[in-house]
Amino acid sequence: MQPLDLVIDRARLTTGATCSICIAAGHIVAMPENGADLPAARERIDIGGALVLPGLIDGHNHLDTTFLGDVWRPHQRCTAGFDLGERLAIQKEWLARGAPLEKRASALIERAVSRGTTHIRTHVEVDPDFGLRHLEGIVALRERYCDAVSIQIVGLGRGLIVRPGTRELLDEALTQGADLVGGLDPAGFEGDIEGHLDVVFALAERHATGIDLHLHDGGHLGLFTLDRIAERTRLAGLGGHVAVSHAYALGEVSNDAMLETAERLAAANVAIMTNAPGDHPFPPIAALRAAGVTVFAGNDDIRDSWWPYGDGDMLERAMMIGYRSGFYTDAELACAFDMITDAAAGVLHIPDYGIEVGSAADLAIVDARHAQEAIVARPIRRAVYKAGRLVAREGTFLPEAGSAPSATLHPNLAGV
Ligand SMILES: [Zn+2]
Repeated sequence: MQPLDLVIDRARLTTGATCSICIAAGHIVAMPENGADLPAARERIDIGGALVLPGLIDGHNHLDTTFLGDVWRPHQRCTAGFDLGERLAIQKEWLARGAPLEKRASALIERAVSRGTTHIRTHVEVDPDFGLRHLEGIVALRERYCDAVSIQIVGLGRGLIVRPGTRELLDEALTQGADLVGGLDPAGFEGDIEGHLDVVFALAERHATGIDLHLHDGGHLGLFTLDRIAERTRLAGLGGHVAVSHAYALGEVSNDAMLETAERLAAANVAIMTNAPGDHPFPPIAALRAAGVTVFAGNDDIRDSWWPYGDGDMLERAMMIGYRSGFYTDAELACAFDMITDAAAGVLHIPDYGIEVGSAADLAIVDARHAQEAIVARPIRRAVYKAGRLVAREGTFLPEAGSAPSATLHPNLAGV
């Protein structure tokens, strides 16, 4: 066996088995029985039967708009019920008054890592008001924290049809660090389903990227939009590279109507992201998964102008998803766990994911007997490793894990 960097003895796996986990060059290279004879390692720890989880995945958040790390920003409601345009205007107003992006997004990245997250897909604002400033800021932070967490960036083009200049900015964003094409409500915000999807799929083809769309449009309008996304995904050969976030419509229509669209999504391999949002209807996770649809999870907004909740903890998000979905059995809780681990890893195309020989050594150690207990108890993360490197301990991010001093940050961070 090659020289070992780290051996974790008496590690409990989510299968219930215990073993030693041997790590070298950032990967798990062996998982022998406890007590096996092993070559000397640089470090060897006995975790006494604690549970080892694969690094958790936040499949959808907004690093650039959080107020974590800022002063408390009391929530401001829309004047007369929810209005997307007003919501976005409030967001811009509050962000203009808020702390710099670097301070806020860094705080959230560090909090997420301290809660066991080693992979993030984040949606970054791109429009004529923000320009590419948010993108540049998040790209710089992705570099700064690359040894602690992997960050995938969706360029969230808000108004590809209704705001002149947005599509050109998103096109540019995809050459400057955005990994996927993002958009918002082809009908409700853009007023042109096909026009919006034309732009989105053309950008995806041009940059050879995937797509992750925000879709709040409800009822049969939302279902129709999902059907169109499925059809376009099939025609573009993008199965496995398209996700729709929220897709509230799936939770607002009859079961039969939902299942018809679910079949189309499954056949086209379009994934659905949900965070089990507040008091809003959301996709029926178990029924969708039974129909063959990949459903994964993300935190979405974390202490921003949309709502005041969250601290980036994916175990907490899995608990909320299970709570709102009526998940009680171990099998149902395992589904919630899958949404923050394996299912999300598939959607994000994370290589070498999991706790097995050959996997990247991204893991979180908690005091729990199994994944189900980890979700309901949400124990402190005793230790979090990224590629075999300790990045958080006892729920606290280790500053050396994000080691680039501010002076070396990307110049575009200045003034963001
Ligand atoms: Zn979102």
